[in-house]
Amino acid sequence: MTDLAPRKESRRVTAPATVVFDVQRVRADFPALHQQIGKHPLVYLDNAATALKPQSVIDAVSSVYAHDCANIHRGVHTLSQRATQRYEDARDKARRFLNAPSVEETIFVRGTTEGINLVAHSYARPRLREGDEILITELEHHSNIVPWQLVAQATGAKLVVAPVNDAGEVTEEAFANKLSARTKVVSFAHVSNALGTILPAKRFVELAKAVGAVVCIDGAQAAPHAPVDVQDLGCDFYAFSGHKVYGPTGIGVLFGKRELLEAMVPYQGGGDMIDRVTFEETTWNALPYKFEAGTPHIAGGIGLGAAIDYLTALEPSALAAHERDVLEYGTAKLHDVPGLRLIGTAKHKVGVLSFLMSGAHPSDVGTVLDQVGVAVRTGHHCTQPLMDRFGIPATARASMALYTTRADIDALVAGLHLVREMFS
Ligand code: PMP
Repeated sequence: MTDLAPRKESRRVTAPATVVFDVQRVRADFPALHQQIGKHPLVYLDNAATALKPQSVIDAVSSVYAHDCANIHRGVHTLSQRATQRYEDARDKARRFLNAPSVEETIFVRGTTEGINLVAHSYARPRLREGDEILITELEHHSNIVPWQLVAQATGAKLVVAPVNDAGEVTEEAFANKLSARTKVVSFAHVSNALGTILPAKRFVELAKAVGAVVCIDGAQAAPHAPVDVQDLGCDFYAFSGHKVYGPTGIGVLFGKRELLEAMVPYQGGGDMIDRVTFEETTWNALPYKFEAGTPHIAGGIGLGAAIDYLTALEPSALAAHERDVLEYGTAKLHDVPGLRLIGTAKHKVGVLSFLMSGAHPSDVGTVLDQVGVAVRTGHHCTQPLMDRFGIPATARASMALYTTRADIDALVAGLHLVREMFS
């Protein structure tokens, strides 16, 4: 799978939950899976929007509020010290998860969106000038488009877009054609949320570095599916969201290279990010705190640490094989549904199946599926320019996680036959 390889054994942080991937055992860890929607068991296929949480994450979050509820970093009392220790332990788990060189380069943010905005506003905005270019791709999520538009508007830099082909891939040629000495920043998704396409991130970084650009990767959809190694990728920044890797909402991580972070001025000021404040002058706290103004999402960070423990304890190659099996099974099954058109047929994909049904609007598809307990997402998936590229307003999207089974796909397909009966 191009850049997304199975997790390495050395990245395990706790004992493996399974040796051979046992999906039923894993499903038992996710309480939200075990409920009825009306008369039907829940079939949760909206994982690209947010993943369900294992009990260990729920327990970690609730134990913060039940036992270690205190503000962090400044308190000398026991609760504050315990909370601080747990939060900083979680940061180190996030560092290991990304194989970042240091915790100073591992910044807690609200999520991928805030990570990209931090890079846009603290790195790019003060540095870019008229004539400079920012390169993104046509499959980006709005959170990797709009921050760059804001930078372009403020600086006079130009936003340049590498196109996708009919399969929903950004080829090396299409990407390289848009690079030049004017390209100062490149930012692209490691994996597309709308289509599931895996981009050849390492190669794109090499190409961007050859013209001297700084590279930011949107890892929101890659981090849940395979290990990320920011040192191997060679990128300058990498952002992901906790809630897509089975952790809490409102917490995520931005990796940034130390020399860049040290040279950047923070775009948010407040408590904890300062060294010394006078009315005349303020000096910054050390990394990573310089970019973490205000009371952070303490329980969220600790919950993310528990999610990373959970994910990295699963046997890596067996998990990858399971996810691949369900994707291949789902792709074949959807192929056989009359009137269904798959959008996004890239050679290298994660478990995302975006589709249209003839005669039925995607929101009708989603509503009918919900009536039989199948949760999918419908709409533009925050990728309106990509929808425009395919000449469609929306798709229905079934997206998979580590607990998704072939039986879930069968329930989806049964629901789609119901849609066909109702709308053809
Ligand atoms: N990029 C991609 C590819 C995404 O899928 C998402 C979430 N749908 C985001 C960025 C934004 O993530 P968040 O809303 O968690 O900040």
